[in-house]
Amino acid sequence: MKRTHENGTLHACDAGKEVTLVGWVQKRRNLGSIVFVDLRDRSGVVQITFDETISEKVKEVRSEFILQVTGTVQMRKDANPKMATGEIEVLAKDVVIVNRAETAPITISDDTDTNEDTRLKYRYLDLRRHVLQQNLILRHRVCMAARNLLDSEGFVEIETPILARSTPEGARDYLVPSRIYNGKFWALPQSPQIYKQLLMISGMEKYFQIARCFRDEDLRSDRQPEFTQIDIEMSFGDEDTIFGVVERLMKAIFRECISAELEDTFVRIPYSECMRLYGTDKPDLRFGNTITELNDIFKDTEFQVFRSVLDTDGIIGALKFSEAASKYSRKGIDKLQDFVKHGFKAKALAWLKQENGTLSGSIAKALSDAEKAALSEKLSLADGDLVLIIADQAKIVRSSLGALRVRLGHELDLIEKDVYKFLWVTDFPMFEYSEEENRWVASHHPFTAPKEEDVRYLFSDPGRVSSRAYDLVLNGYELLSGSIRIHDQDLQEKVFEAIGLTMEEAQERFGFFLQAFRYGTPPHGGVGIGLERLVMVLAGTDNIRDVVAFPTTNSSLDLMSDAPNVVDRAQLDILGIEITKNNND
Ligand code: ASP
Repeated sequence: MKRTHENGTLHACDAGKEVTLVGWVQKRRNLGSIVFVDLRDRSGVVQITFDETISEKVKEVRSEFILQVTGTVQMRKDANPKMATGEIEVLAKDVVIVNRAETAPITISDDTDTNEDTRLKYRYLDLRRHVLQQNLILRHRVCMAARNLLDSEGFVEIETPILARSTPEGARDYLVPSRIYNGKFWALPQSPQIYKQLLMISGMEKYFQIARCFRDEDLRSDRQPEFTQIDIEMSFGDEDTIFGVVERLMKAIFRECISAELEDTFVRIPYSECMRLYGTDKPDLRFGNTITELNDIFKDTEFQVFRSVLDTDGIIGALKFSEAASKYSRKGIDKLQDFVKHGFKAKALAWLKQENGTLSGSIAKALSDAEKAALSEKLSLADGDLVLIIADQAKIVRSSLGALRVRLGHELDLIEKDVYKFLWVTDFPMFEYSEEENRWVASHHPFTAPKEEDVRYLFSDPGRVSSRAYDLVLNGYELLSGSIRIHDQDLQEKVFEAIGLTMEEAQERFGFFLQAFRYGTPPHGGVGIGLERLVMVLAGTDNIRDVVAFPTTNSSLDLMSDAPNVVDRAQLDILGIEITKNNND
């Protein structure tokens, strides 16, 4: 089929050229004997004018018909500045209706008002929208930039099995029953973690993979049951080496995909400091307003609320927002109260405003003059400032102030647009205590190396052990996790023991892996970069489905093909499976 140009690429410099174009009818307007058609292909839209000599031929044409048009590019009398090709149009000489289309069940335009479920049901039509096509192209560019950069640094792309053995990344596995070995199951990999470590043992030194990962997690709006990681592992490096690779990778991706230049080296903050300053391990650094702890100011306080918190090892934390006092009325502050009480179990939110050099607010009367003066000095208060204070257990203070910081950051418009603030959070705790399971579990995964100086606390005080795990955070999103791994068999066995795996259980689940450690394992480490998150930031969307070709809904359903679904009795019989419970009725 003949086609000389792509529709979106025509410009004033093409005026006078004869072109043959193909594409879908975006819009058709009838102006008496003249018909205008906006013809769309992947590159964009161009206006075609059918004058009275030919308009009869497009009488029956409707939206989404496919046309092949031959004509001459000419300058428009009135340019349309909203269209990339708005200076020109194509005067049609010949037209072929290549295919007809029924009326589409969704509105195919960037600002469509069709609801998301209907769009997901007709995803192939939804994907005709320019924004979504651009997102998929952006995703492709990110992968290309990643491949090129990693290749140039000596990394080798290696595929690892999808039908695999369960890997422990903390989520539930998707299981695939074996037909040949009835009663046995494959697990879809939560990540290629074990395989990439085995590749290091095998001497591949530098590996990467654009790897599909599967996690059967509880429903959450920003999750998909399957997602993609740019998965990287390398031998003989430490944190500096790995951070260097990732920083060069990010710079290449941002430069090539959105022409943005990133700062030279990314900031690093240890986890504990990050939590103290921002109340979260994924802070948005596009604005300041960090948490200030006020325990020292109030150590001798007689204000009962603060006194009892300090006497029970709690903390008093504050956030200051300049020129915000007048923007939060009583009602506005009540909303913030509800937010921290219901969302974060904080008992109360205290507030102060400074006006004409004096502090007013919910606790102004309860504080002594000396305390107010010390507070003013510590927070460098000025007129117009709003101070929000929470006194409670450290965990509650941090999580609620962390969330308030982000909320006010948005409400007060403190967050700069088109700015990319990266942050390495390092030294994560090695373990966290699971109330549910009544035991310590690995915070990252059990192959992460503990800090050497903390190994002695593995059994006596697991909560005190820091690990060599790190995250890279971008504008409040966790973009990747990774760690330096354990490469010593004895230490690996000890870590399994610390999370309550007996030697038999560890052997049963990871025997092959532990055995591999015996034959000369190099020091190694790596990362798994969340591809969707990265593309979301680059595309400026906060909906993960905008960057996945065929996503599932928030309830993990594929509305287009109606999956998951029942299968034939015969298929189950072959697998030796009997359905005993069905929660769909
Ligand atoms: N496998 C890890 C994850 O999926 C990433 C890593 O440690 O390399 O989070």
